[in-house]
Amino acid sequence: MTFDIVKVRADFPILTREVNGKPLVYLDNGASAQKPQVVIDAITQAYSHEYSNVHRGLHYLSNLATEKYEAVRGTIARFLGVSDERQIVMNSGTTEGINTVAYGWAMPRMEAGDEIILSVMEHHANIVPWHFLRERLGVKLVWVDVDANGDLDPDKVLGAITDRTRLIAVTHLSNVLGTVVDVKSICDGARERGVPVLVDGSQAAVHMPVNVEEIGCDFYAITGHKLYGPSGSGAIYIHRDRMAEMQPFMGGGDMIREVSKDAVTYNDPPMKFEAGTPGIVQMIGLGVALDYMMGLGMENIAAHERHLRDYARDRLDGLNWLNVQGRSVGKAAIFSFTLEGAAHAHDISTILDKKGVAVRAGQHCTGPLMEHLGLAATCRASFGLYNTTEEVDALVDALELCHKLLA
Ligand code: PLP
Repeated sequence: MTFDIVKVRADFPILTREVNGKPLVYLDNGASAQKPQVVIDAITQAYSHEYSNVHRGLHYLSNLATEKYEAVRGTIARFLGVSDERQIVMNSGTTEGINTVAYGWAMPRMEAGDEIILSVMEHHANIVPWHFLRERLGVKLVWVDVDANGDLDPDKVLGAITDRTRLIAVTHLSNVLGTVVDVKSICDGARERGVPVLVDGSQAAVHMPVNVEEIGCDFYAITGHKLYGPSGSGAIYIHRDRMAEMQPFMGGGDMIREVSKDAVTYNDPPMKFEAGTPGIVQMIGLGVALDYMMGLGMENIAAHERHLRDYARDRLDGLNWLNVQGRSVGKAAIFSFTLEGAAHAHDISTILDKKGVAVRAGQHCTGPLMEHLGLAATCRASFGLYNTTEEVDALVDALELCHKLLA
């Protein structure tokens, strides 16, 4: 199937609106993506005609909602190339997924002096849960830098392994630099040394085909709102061997089999790790979003975004007063930049907004990366499957205005 961008854009109703009297140019997909009509319709349909709590009732609607909700587990497994869907834990997003691993797998098995290897370009969601272990258990965080292009050398990550290394936690795709990390090489080397690997797939799964069984990781976290699905939806793949080692992180309904005054027995995995009423309709919406992406074809999406990346890279390189961070050759269409001089990222994004161009300004939840780059903040234009080269032109026009006003 060819990628028909006009048809794709027509699937996203919000893209027809104006902002500040200008057509919306939405380049904040790294923060959260817009939703296609099929997802919006699925949410309306679920609440209008098919809503009930799941796993609990014997009545018609509860069975229907359970069926729809549980089918999403299979969709996520298919999307991530996982052959056994019981290795998918459904949740509210990457933050919950990584915390589930930190509390349920890492905390019970780590002690003072154990080490966790992190890259310097991790999102706070893949940093702060490990700081909890540092603060509470005395675990040491070992940081691996990226090079001047923003590339992460897998050998440098593997070279940081010692006999105290208990986990490598690394992003698959940087939300700031756009760098795609060779997580397969990291996993291959780590496996030989008996070190599990957690991959933060929050950004990668949006932009490229992902097959976690080929990657060979132990944990792979995704978050629904960046995948054109509802906020409050997500999942984490947990290899069955790691799952067997895990303790439940949150306790409550659904994750138990029996509870008495003196004892509790747990449900089978993955439900053992899904406490309480889940985001039922959010997850149903996520299933539809993933089907939508797979319908377009992940290879087609990736090819379209490579075209956008190349076009944007050329046009932004033409602005000799713009400093783009991250020069990895195979990067995704994510561009973080500063303007030469003292212009603040917030001022730049405010001017862009006046032109209808939505970008993000700030630290992007990556304090250690900003420290590494020696920057207080950047602006970030992050592209998605519905963006166009005309929108790159609109960004460049708006940046030229910024340069005129702020230089
Ligand atoms: N990891 C990366 C690389 C991200 O870009 C984000 C979101 O910005 C997260 C983790 C956290 O995702 P969420 O806030 O949906 O849990």
